[in-house]
Amino acid sequence: MLEQDENTLPDIPTTTFEALGLCESVLTAVREAGYKAPLPVQAACFAPVKEGRHLVVQSRTGSGKTAAFGLPLLHRIRYEDRRPQVLILAPTRELALQVHQEIEKLAVGTGLESVCIYGGTRFTEQLEKLHAGVHLVVGTPGRVLDHHRRRTFRTDSVETLVLDEADEMLSAGFYEDIRKVLDALTGLQQVLLFSATLPPNLQGLIRKYMPEPVKVNLSQDRVDVDRIDNVAYAVDPTQTKMRTLLGVIEAEDPSAAIIFCNMRHTTEAVTSYLRRRGFDAALLNSDLCQTDRETVMARMKAGHQRLLVATDIAARGIDISFLPCVIHYDLPDDVQQYIHRTGRTGRVDRHGRAISLLTLKDTTSIRRLEWSYGIKLKLLETPTREETLKMLADRRIREMKEMIEAGRVIPDEFQVMAREIMADPDSESLVATLIDAFLTSKPLSEQPENSHGSKHRENDRGPSDRPPRPAGDRPAGGGGGAGGSGGRRRR
Ligand code: AMP
Repeated sequence: MLEQDENTLPDIPTTTFEALGLCESVLTAVREAGYKAPLPVQAACFAPVKEGRHLVVQSRTGSGKTAAFGLPLLHRIRYEDRRPQVLILAPTRELALQVHQEIEKLAVGTGLESVCIYGGTRFTEQLEKLHAGVHLVVGTPGRVLDHHRRRTFRTDSVETLVLDEADEMLSAGFYEDIRKVLDALTGLQQVLLFSATLPPNLQGLIRKYMPEPVKVNLSQDRVDVDRIDNVAYAVDPTQTKMRTLLGVIEAEDPSAAIIFCNMRHTTEAVTSYLRRRGFDAALLNSDLCQTDRETVMARMKAGHQRLLVATDIAARGIDISFLPCVIHYDLPDDVQQYIHRTGRTGRVDRHGRAISLLTLKDTTSIRRLEWSYGIKLKLLETPTREETLKMLADRRIREMKEMIEAGRVIPDEFQVMAREIMADPDSESLVATLIDAFLTSKPLSEQPENSHGSKHRENDRGPSDRPPRPAGDRPAGGGGGAGGSGGRRRR
């Protein structure tokens, strides 16, 4: 961590966007974005960025840092000059895209031309944009260097470089790439570095490329333990970990959650386990092609996806407003990653919940979390196998009763079938088979209009009719939603 010195901003001023002196178009965009007042990181960064100073900011993710550098930069850009003046580097494509979207949102009405360059897709589109002239470029280090080498991106006009999530870029192996980018920016005047931590190699970069930086350390909200309940459930040795997860989801009943796993194959196994039990679970790992990753994230951000099972590619920077819960299915090997994953919840001024599933091998990580970050996981009682199964059954019964109460008319044939099933000596297996078919059938949204059992059509049901699925809890499998597995894997 950087020591406080005369360049460190001691107090964060309380101010308004008007008082910051933003130009009218940016003020309008800020209002349209629904931002009422600058967040602490924005108030602290505005003046130094505007004045062209180097800046080192330690602040938790989700604190509003994109606007913290975006707003003053939008204020500074010379719009009549359509050469790249600002370059923003981010560790992942998702984060680069998100930063780009936030900047574009704030730049409405300014005349800003910008492009997001990253590997995967849309190379031609990126080239065309660069060729037409842009003021601001967002990208991942690898792809930015690619464009630099091909001379499709004129780096000499860049005056300001933003290193977003800098520690993550270094741990992702981008140290050399960042150095090369820094050396390629011959007209560079200002570097703005945002990072949760400042490891030694980052401090080396700061010393070499950022003389006398202003340092903003909002470490009081570094981990933001206050706004996040860090709780844990021990995996019951008599149950599988996935069954424990099921019990936790049933007991906690989050309206939405990201479930983090350490390995790609675990994300796949957990996703199909949950879908098989009727949960709306989507998958996000690096096997997905870029378009599918974006679709999944967009669904999650829009609140159309309840559960997202992901590797750490979803752990950094990604902003999902209102995400109430993060579940660490596996505790990460590196405890710092716990902070980043957990930072997906409790963003800006909201409360969040981080839930860990603990096994014996996690003892060291738990201690490290406490030593390094002062985070003490509160151990809650794990639902037993019987409790889990009962909760699952109760919820289904509740949902079915709600449907009946809502006036759902069941055709006579089904009533007769039910009676026959109840009278059969194998009734339990028969009902279980029905439930299985119910949970793995297609989502209602994909069924033909008339299969919903409208009163007028009660005796006119076609062969594709199925029992209804409660809204908001349908499996993403069977091709429904962005998380469907069929044909989604990159080969
Ligand atoms: P970031 O740290 O840039 O990922 O931002 C986290 C979230 O805060 C994003 O959803 C922003 O749109 C939102 N945000 C940024 N500035 C403000 C503000 N002044 N007031 C309210 N929300 C904000």
